[in-house]
Amino acid sequence: MSCIFCKIVAGEIPCHKVFEDENLLAFLDIHPCNPGHTLVIPKQHFENLLETPAVVVLQLMNGVHTLAPRVVAAVGAHGFNLGVNTGPASGQVIMHTHAHIIPRFEHDGLVHWPTKEMTSDELHQITLKICKGI
Ligand code: 5GP
Ligand code: ZN
Repeated sequence: MSCIFCKIVAGEIPCHKVFEDENLLAFLDIHPCNPGHTLVIPKQHFENLLETPAVVVLQLMNGVHTLAPRVVAAVGAHGFNLGVNTGPASGQVIMHTHAHIIPRFEHDGLVHWPTKEMTSDELHQITLKICKGI
């Protein structure tokens, strides 16, 4: 087994565990964006969110919903980002489904992702494709 997160689940690599049940594990990110940056993962290996069965995604989101307020309270944050990087182009490095809970503080250096200008027609064309399921 080469997956780092599977090794953490198996106890072969240590982690700062903050939550565990039969389906999920949550632990602190080793390179946090902010104090309290937490990763929530299904114990079962799936490569990314879209490879993860819907029932497991629901378990994951339920875990996030339970844990996020605890994380925020623990570090005295003012909010949090929830991130699920999906695919290398998105920045996913560990190919085991995981959700980032990143506590945010006022004026903590957050840089929003860059945006693009698009015409109403371009937005409309994309809307049609998404609606058609292309
Ligand atoms: P990704 O970019 O794949 O969405 O995020 C992977 C995250 O896993 C990164 O934020 C990285 O710091 C974290 N990470 C990578 N290896 C380890 C590890 O061995 N232990 C812990 N706790 N976090 C890790
Ligand atoms: Zn894995």
